[in-house]
Amino acid sequence: MIIQLEKGVNGEVLNSVERELHVLKYKTTHVQTQYGSYLIGTGKKQFDIRKIGHLKGIKDIHVVSDDYKLVSTKWKVNPTIIDLGDNVKIGGGHFSLMAGPCSIEGEENIKDTINFLKTNDIRIMRGGVYKPRSSPYSFRGLGIEGLKMWHKLARENGIKIISEVMQVSQIEEMHDYVDIFQVGARNTQNYNLLDELGKVDKPVLLKRGISGTIDELLHSAEYIFSGGNERLLLCERGIRTYEKASRNTFDINAIPILKEKSHLPVIADPSHGIGIRDHVGPLAMAATVAGADGVIFETHCRPEEAFSDGQQTLDYNEASSLIEKLRILSSMIAN
Ligand code: PEP
Ligand code: MN
Repeated sequence: MIIQLEKGVNGEVLNSVERELHVLKYKTTHVQTQYGSYLIGTGKKQFDIRKIGHLKGIKDIHVVSDDYKLVSTKWKVNPTIIDLGDNVKIGGGHFSLMAGPCSIEGEENIKDTINFLKTNDIRIMRGGVYKPRSSPYSFRGLGIEGLKMWHKLARENGIKIISEVMQVSQIEEMHDYVDIFQVGARNTQNYNLLDELGKVDKPVLLKRGISGTIDELLHSAEYIFSGGNERLLLCERGIRTYEKASRNTFDINAIPILKEKSHLPVIADPSHGIGIRDHVGPLAMAATVAGADGVIFETHCRPEEAFSDGQQTLDYNEASSLIEKLRILSSMIAN
């Protein structure tokens, strides 16, 4: 059950609503986000909501049978739109593209990418400065100094930044230099990290875990929302299956299912989803047709020289032609 509380409801009123719910054997959690105040009630026995509907401080009550609640369409049918400012919006009909290298490599690489994005009218640049790598000997990112350099160049060019945060201690140092925090597939169930991101006033893109179910992804999103941050994006990036012909198995099913279950924007990551450059484009198109609110993909001026994930990175010609197709497809879907 989600009880939406009136704006500015005071402690006394809140306590009395909680007391009534406790009498009905419901456990309560108060959630205060950037936009709203909610009381989440969980209990075994359903009761007639008219029993509490008259109480002071209550704006609306929704019975949500899903175990995850705040991210569910069962209480919020309208799609959530993430507004990054400067006319950059994601979700609710705003189809969004995010592109850039797997890892931020240095000044030249940042400048090349920004030029490419501007030419193609893309406003959000992706790139890792903290890289989760399977081998400790692989390139692990430029760290905070790289992010600061990137941020300066991005701001000069009206470009927004999405970058992965790997641990709690990085949140504060990265905060002023990112527009969206990315939670990587290896951290989808790092609940300490999710709790802390709930306290942050920046949007979070949450990737599906390497072997994570759709349900687990939604529960992880619920952690961040209930921690106080409702500006969330869900990302399908492929899962580990028995199939070895591709890096991961992109779960196209997840796109319409997530859209049905949650009001949050759903972003497709075909680069990690398949891991094979030649097939990234078709997958991105398929995800767009399946209803994704946007696509995040890896691109580099010389993919064969990329510091990481070159095998799944598009060169600028491939990327430009894909962008054109994706825009046509998304406008067809919208109509
Ligand atoms: C990435 O976006 O470069 C990345 C490491 O993604 P994932 O967490 O999906 O593997
Ligand atoms: Mn990558």
